[in-house]
Amino acid sequence: MGHQMFDYNAELANEVFDYCRDRLSMDPVPLDFGSLHPIAPSSMEGFIRPEGHDPDQIFAFFKETLAPAVVSIDSPGFLAFIPNAPTKSSLLFDMVVACSGLNGTSWLESSGVVMAENQALEYLAGLAGMPAGSGGAFVSGGSLGNLSSLTVGRDVGRSKRSHLAPHEVRFAISGDAHSSIAKALHVLGVEPLVVASSDHRFTREGLEAALANDSHPDTVVGVVATAGTTNAGIVDDLEGLGSYARDHDLWFHVDGAYGGAALFSPSERHLFEGLRHADSFIVDPHKWLFAPLDCCALVYRNPTIARKVLAQQASYLDILHAGDDANYEWNPSDFAIHLSRRARGLPFWYSLVTNGTAAYESAVQAAVDLAKRAVEMIESMDHVEMVRDSSLSIVLFRRKGWSDERYTEWSHQLLRDQVAFVTPTKWEGETVARLAFLHPNTTEDLVRRILDSMRD
Ligand SMILES: *Cc1c(COP(=O)(O)O)cnc(C)c1O
Repeated sequence: MGHQMFDYNAELANEVFDYCRDRLSMDPVPLDFGSLHPIAPSSMEGFIRPEGHDPDQIFAFFKETLAPAVVSIDSPGFLAFIPNAPTKSSLLFDMVVACSGLNGTSWLESSGVVMAENQALEYLAGLAGMPAGSGGAFVSGGSLGNLSSLTVGRDVGRSKRSHLAPHEVRFAISGDAHSSIAKALHVLGVEPLVVASSDHRFTREGLEAALANDSHPDTVVGVVATAGTTNAGIVDDLEGLGSYARDHDLWFHVDGAYGGAALFSPSERHLFEGLRHADSFIVDPHKWLFAPLDCCALVYRNPTIARKVLAQQASYLDILHAGDDANYEWNPSDFAIHLSRRARGLPFWYSLVTNGTAAYESAVQAAVDLAKRAVEMIESMDHVEMVRDSSLSIVLFRRKGWSDERYTEWSHQLLRDQVAFVTPTKWEGETVARLAFLHPNTTEDLVRRILDSMRD
């Protein structure tokens, strides 16, 4: 007598696959409501108990009650934060990964996964101009990618400056770096040298001035640049910062979680030339490279150094680390602060291989082009005005005369009306409106509707 819960339930499988098929064929998916769709806590009382529930009933509860309480991040109307627009093939392949319980921890267990993931990483490293032999792993997100990279950078920096106490090393960052950078440094016990930027762009001149005015410039062991700030899409002076880091033997980390995808954009890729200097680089395929959550590509220029810092050692893991460096077999688990991992790079790999890189170029470019069209529309209207020019696919603008509260009410109303999900942000202390374009099916008509909804 087996355990029933491991039995295949053909009816439930049909229902779930039907739901997935429906969802995949929706064009577009409904925006849905997030927290505007209230769920009474009592509706879930008694769910977890010794005897199970009817799977149909609970699946129906998910469909009717839980799912509408999630704003669809893959809706063309999702223009808040950074959206996510997975291709159909990446979503389908994510089901393959899920239904196979596909493990991607080590070469010994998962060489088939590692081969495919590494092909995708190698392609991205090549686009970034990093040398052959660069590599790393797919991790859960940019936050973990940044933390892992900066851990390696810190240790490398310490080893080169043995006269400093371990806690004395610092990283130069910009005030516009993503919040995960400050959080990573906090975890690492490393202080930032926060460099004043020039119109929110971190430049070599800014870095040199900050170091010249600092009483302990020798404690700075690395530089963190952002390739596409989350709030405004600004790409830092990668060439200037990268060449400075190279000349002064500093670790150069580039956070391209959102903007790194613009390596695929014919009109924007020139901004990324300095990426070739990077010691570590991240880009989130779960943002602008059309893969499902959660997926960040983390690449090191020298993967051997990275794994010496990050690989976990334990007697039961020795079998994974048996070979010497020359015969190293690739364990994705060695390159970040993680061990067990699902094969989260495979949906991206499958989509990239089957759709082809040209399709990625045109889909990324579509968002850049739509941002430029949105700027033209805003400039042609009297009730709104640009805060600054668009960068990559992000547009910051203001509704003349609106208070903070008015922006918030308007944002909720747009969602309630199922038009779009647009949230305000702060720019130099002022509340302003922000559109983050990403889905290639977002239309000019929708942008016009959003702008028109701000008239009164
Ligand atoms: C989104 C983002 C991050 C964090 O990535 P997660 O995948 O959300 O952890 C880091 N840096 C930048 C620039 C980002 O846009």
